Amino acid sequence: MSGITNVTVLGTGVLGSQIAYQTAYSGFSVTAYDIDDNALGQARTRFADLVETYKKDAVPGAAEGRADEALTRIRLSADLADAVRDADLVIEAVPEVLSIKQETYGKLGKVAPEKTIFATNSSTLLPSDLKAFTGRPARFLALHFANRVWKFNTAEVMGTADTDPAVVDEVIAFAGEIGMVPVPLHKEKAGYVLNSLLVPFLNAGYALAAGGYAEPADIDNVWRIGTGAPLGPFQITDIIGLRTPYNILSNAGAEAKPLADWLKTNYIDKGKLGVATGEGFYTY
Ligand code: NAD
Repeated sequence: MSGITNVTVLGTGVLGSQIAYQTAYSGFSVTAYDIDDNALGQARTRFADLVETYKKDAVPGAAEGRADEALTRIRLSADLADAVRDADLVIEAVPEVLSIKQETYGKLGKVAPEKTIFATNSSTLLPSDLKAFTGRPARFLALHFANRVWKFNTAEVMGTADTDPAVVDEVIAFAGEIGMVPVPLHKEKAGYVLNSLLVPFLNAGYALAAGGYAEPADIDNVWRIGTGAPLGPFQITDIIGLRTPYNILSNAGAEAKPLADWLKTNYIDKGKLGVATGEGFYTY
């Protein structure tokens, strides 16, 4: 048992709304914080959509009332001090912008109770980049979810050298309690486990196609048949959306630029952004 009862999620965008809803779905009392009433209005829509998605995806219990009931455990607030007043755990899912995160932790550290554990869901920042702003490095770590938490339920747990090991254990226990498969990292690693594996894998696929060695569909075929994996690199990219790998490659230095340009010229500039736009490497 984690000892965590009240959870506050900061930011109700794509991931924050999913984390808040999944936590409420698992029986916890959740406060969802965002910057203003307009953002909270959008959060209401996101939560209502998640109710339907959990039913559509046949999440156990969803159709028997559990999906609707989860909503009753979510309280919305645009007042940070009010949102965290009784929090055992704060999960931060504000935009992936260093200055926004630093400012958020600066304010949060001042208003949260001493007991509160802070966890960042940041995909690309290390918790060490943020720990000085929290005012409580021993009670701060990363808890990283994957998009569509009810289905792709990994929770990578990564502390800094200052994180109290008991806090790591408590967050691992909590992640299990909300239906995640917790994966502890023993030290900090940009990209955690998942993206440390996935990004080089996808780039290797793009290099084969961009270099004229083979067609995307054939590369996917070889990977699926040769390893038994369900999806190849281009199918995965279509699901993620082509903009995210393009942004990663664009920020990865001169060596990665030809691959970024290849994605942009052949796909992104033609509106082929993946499943979301009906076409990427494949047509949907
Ligand atoms: P998003 O842009 O969809 O949502 C961000 C939310 O934060 C919005 O609701 C916005 O109103 C709110 N916000 C803006 N400024 C704020 C502030 N100062 N305080 C509180 N809230 C504020 O972003 P997202 O995709 O949900 O990403 C959030 C975090 O989750 C990022 O750190 C990202 O790296 C991480 N993450 C995203 C994914 C993904 O697939 N989208 C996956 C794993 C982790």
